[in-house]
Amino acid sequence: MSEKIFKKNDEITLTITDISDDGSGIGRSDGFIFFVKNALPGDEIRAGVMKVQKNFGFARILEIVKPSPGRCSALCSVSEKCGGCTLQNYRYEEQLKYKYNKVKNVLIRIGGLSEKEADEKLLPIVGMDDPYRYRNKAQYPVRMGRDGKPHAGFFAGHTHSVIEADDCRIEPEKNAEILNAVTVWMNKNHVKAYNDESGEGLVRHVLIRHGFISGECQVNLIINGNKIPDEVGLVCALKDVMGDSLKSVTLCQNKRRDNVILGDSYRAIYGEGYITDTLVGITFKISPLSFYQVNPVQTAKLYGLARDYACLDGEEEVLDLYCGIGTISLMMAKNAGHVTGVEIVDRAIKDAKENAKINAIGNAEFITGAAEDVIQTMLPGKGNRRTPDVVVVDPPRKGCARSCIDAILTLAPSRVVYVSCDPATLARDIRIFREGGYELIKATPVDMFPHTAHVETVVLLGNKFSKPKEYVQIGIDAEDHYRIKDAKSNE
Ligand code: SAH
Repeated sequence: MSEKIFKKNDEITLTITDISDDGSGIGRSDGFIFFVKNALPGDEIRAGVMKVQKNFGFARILEIVKPSPGRCSALCSVSEKCGGCTLQNYRYEEQLKYKYNKVKNVLIRIGGLSEKEADEKLLPIVGMDDPYRYRNKAQYPVRMGRDGKPHAGFFAGHTHSVIEADDCRIEPEKNAEILNAVTVWMNKNHVKAYNDESGEGLVRHVLIRHGFISGECQVNLIINGNKIPDEVGLVCALKDVMGDSLKSVTLCQNKRRDNVILGDSYRAIYGEGYITDTLVGITFKISPLSFYQVNPVQTAKLYGLARDYACLDGEEEVLDLYCGIGTISLMMAKNAGHVTGVEIVDRAIKDAKENAKINAIGNAEFITGAAEDVIQTMLPGKGNRRTPDVVVVDPPRKGCARSCIDAILTLAPSRVVYVSCDPATLARDIRIFREGGYELIKATPVDMFPHTAHVETVVLLGNKFSKPKEYVQIGIDAEDHYRIKDAKSNE
């Protein structure tokens, strides 16, 4: 604990040693923790104290006295202002190293693994060959600028002023042209952008989605009303930019006065109101309101690892908890006897069922409900479901509910595949599984969101008491990871 009392405007020197979840640099002065935006591990800085709380404070860079060896110049000119890519000025190899160590450290500190175990079990992080232009979806706010014209881009920090998106390097290049077509159309038709304070103005957001495999494009205008002038003019302007790739233009009404971006319903003014795309061998129908993974290249790698870790032979009963639109369930259904997906959002379950139909997958069933509740109805003696051989979980950041893990332990599947978007809650849950008779066979971090501090991890846990399969190492696609092979076929 620091003896020193800090106050606003104090000048301090810091060596940055870590990165917070929101991408700020973390450094200590007299033992007191400071969070500093745009500072990177290895930076030595002079900083100005902005705010002090009981156990930590916030400071801003006054001068970078000695830059981190990992520093590089960001490709995007507004990266420091927009707050999206907090690590764009950190070399990509350093980002990957940082993320790998973040997972390793929590496996030791929270998960209870020894350093040696963590080194053995945690396989190399799967990064991107090209960590730019990876997002297939973007939602751009539109607001009136001081020049009296509409601007589309990003909110600066936590404000409602918009930074013009000239060319966001993690989005497709065409998006800037699409936004330009929308704002030119607005000017021509005297359409005003939404104003958060007055609640007036028509256009709130532009949502753009591209199917990376299908090449199809969808543009959705979120409007504070139910119609726009000159629909034909807007569609023609968008066609000029996207040509035949443009498959859907929709209007989504949202008259709410809060920060929720999307409304509840939409209307197509061009096309069918959805696009299609293919991921992990499954075709998805994507409406403006559907959830769909935003980094399809890395999702295919992450879910491919999950499929390898599940090591299905065509007979298994698989339970996929927190299944969303059923991406993992449908992928696994191709190699399993039967899959049950459970998800709390009913719209996602409707999409999952529809996607099963489109792909003619008949051995997947989907249930709406909280995983921790639905799983209780699957326990021995409650109903006549087959006990799952493999349980997959892909929970939100808070991880699995304790009662959900307890129920999985009672069901005692031979393998649990855990897909996580938060290393700390993952490590907490791994500890419970380890105490409950499972061993950590292997784990692989996957970089789904380059230039941010987020990291996903896929983990295989094996039941110590019912290990019917032998875990052996084989090389797949040059990626050094393991696969479970049937002990017999391995002889
Ligand atoms: N694998 C999914 C994505 C999982 S994201 C896919 O491919 O689509 C995590 C999901 O957990 C979200 O869809 C969220 O709605 C859901 N969720 C959150 N809390 C839940 C709970 N208590 N029970 C079941 N699902 C939950």
